[in-house]
Amino acid sequence: MSERLLTVEGLSVDLVRDGGLVPVLRDVSLALEGRQVLGIVGESGSGKTVLAKALVGWVAEPLVASRGVVRFRGQDLLAMPPEARRILRGSAVGYIGADPGSSFDPTLPVGRQIVEKVQAVRADIDARAAKKRVLDLLDRVHIPSAARRFDEFPHQYSGGMLQRAMIVDALASDPAFLVCDNITQPLDVTVAAQIMRLLHELRSDLDAGIVFISTSLPVVCDIADELVVLSRGEIVERSTPARLLEAPAHPYSQDLIARNPIIWGTPPLPVPAEASPRVILAVDDVTKTYVVPDRTRFFGTQAVKAVRGVSFAVHGGENLGLVGESGCGKSTLSRLLSWVEQPDQGRIRFKGQDIAGMSAQQLLAMRKGFQLLLQDPFNCLPPNLPIGRSVAMSLQIHGGLGRKAIAEQVRAVMAEVGLKEDDRERLPIGMSAGQRQRVNIARALILEPELLILDETLSALDPMEQARLLDLFERLQARHGFTYLFISHDLAMVRRVCTRIAVMYLGKVVELADTRSVFFEPTHPYTRALLSAVPTLEEKPFKAADCLLEGEPPSPIDLPQGCSFAARCPHAMPRCRVEEPPLVDLGGGRFSACWLNEPEVSRAA
Ligand code: SF4
Repeated sequence: MSERLLTVEGLSVDLVRDGGLVPVLRDVSLALEGRQVLGIVGESGSGKTVLAKALVGWVAEPLVASRGVVRFRGQDLLAMPPEARRILRGSAVGYIGADPGSSFDPTLPVGRQIVEKVQAVRADIDARAAKKRVLDLLDRVHIPSAARRFDEFPHQYSGGMLQRAMIVDALASDPAFLVCDNITQPLDVTVAAQIMRLLHELRSDLDAGIVFISTSLPVVCDIADELVVLSRGEIVERSTPARLLEAPAHPYSQDLIARNPIIWGTPPLPVPAEASPRVILAVDDVTKTYVVPDRTRFFGTQAVKAVRGVSFAVHGGENLGLVGESGCGKSTLSRLLSWVEQPDQGRIRFKGQDIAGMSAQQLLAMRKGFQLLLQDPFNCLPPNLPIGRSVAMSLQIHGGLGRKAIAEQVRAVMAEVGLKEDDRERLPIGMSAGQRQRVNIARALILEPELLILDETLSALDPMEQARLLDLFERLQARHGFTYLFISHDLAMVRRVCTRIAVMYLGKVVELADTRSVFFEPTHPYTRALLSAVPTLEEKPFKAADCLLEGEPPSPIDLPQGCSFAARCPHAMPRCRVEEPPLVDLGGGRFSACWLNEPEVSRAA
């Protein structure tokens, strides 16, 4: 057995609030050997990030470590002088967080920042050797054109590349102990899968013990040798991934497993046999291009082709999913649909009426029947307004009801979304992300809309809270007959609730079909790649080795000729680099934009 690297004994961390102590971690004990990967899994608020930081000796106000020790190679990290701890943290101990965007100074090139950090903690390495080390590592983590990227600034890196740069930053000083704190959470599913593949590659080369922390049980099980389950600041179960999945002992672990979506093991929701022919929302050939400053030239501009000729229809009572990676145009489309912005070309009709031709009064009425729920539950609510008044405000804007009737409706709708009577007087600041999202749902629901557009509404929540809110959406639909348009990067979530799915890539719909066809018989290579990257506890029919994408999408400023997926497509043919495939009707309600489907094409869409 290799050397015992890290020992945590009886660690308790408290939050100092109003002169008292609120427990955050209670009596946590764990151990890590060299070259071992220890997984820590639990939902948001379970204390994972506080534990992650405590493991590298980082417990800052208003938190206090009230009991216990964190020993790295025998030294108590919590008790050592701050300067010694700082040096250790940059050298033998590495930390990779979930927010690479805020981890780099925006005014300095990425490579230079990493070199400076290496030199600050390693007296034995000069600037030239440090630069060579960083360049080698940038190459090792598959950052293309590493020498050029070394001199680029953080804003020139994509989210996935910044996360790779964070890994380089942590590895540059050869740490013996590495903490990865929720590192895949902010990333798209394909980029997250690439980062996990990279970690698998690196772990065999690294002479380091790794603590890998995540809210996603499939992601933790994919990499951990052993794991602990954290709930409300306490370890409730210790196990190996295989043992935990086969026989979870603690009810919380059982719930954690049960809440993981089953993707291929159960049939998806069928398209209703008598799907309503009534079209609630019709999108015809919609295009949006933004003109932005060109940072490479004085006074120059460039065109970002955000949405390119998108068409689809949402029928009454159905749930349509719109999926794709960041930058595929989903959010632009959501702004166009809610008429916050107008398309350059094409038409959007709500219940048969062209939105472009609506008067201000008609637009207000349309917005009542057509509610948009956004991702960020924190910034959607007025911070100084009690929750009850926030919910009432939606009704007051549209007028027509007295105070008593509004108060009754607020009470009813808050109960319906699972908020308590007492919550009416609370301010948003004390509420969790899930509770705030319930308030946003109540604000939309009180207007009795026909169509709810959920734009990454559940993305900021952990899987357990997501599952609870999906249950709520299902109940609400059964009771009120809503039509949903789910816009999300999360295929597992969309799979659970949607009857049809449109897949977007670089501003275009590349596949549109019923959920069963998309998940079991996808017709576009990009859809297969997305499916291969979905984290799940099941055996997947689409293997990452066959389908997982390399690299990231090309810039919408500089789209290649032909199929915009060609640079990443494992099946690209010469024709693909010249001619752009149209979205064609394959029959049975399935549409696809790929030359591989040409023999099946029945007619052009
Ligand atoms: Fe791949 Fe060609 Fe199909 Fe595009 S058209 S997805 S490059 S096979």
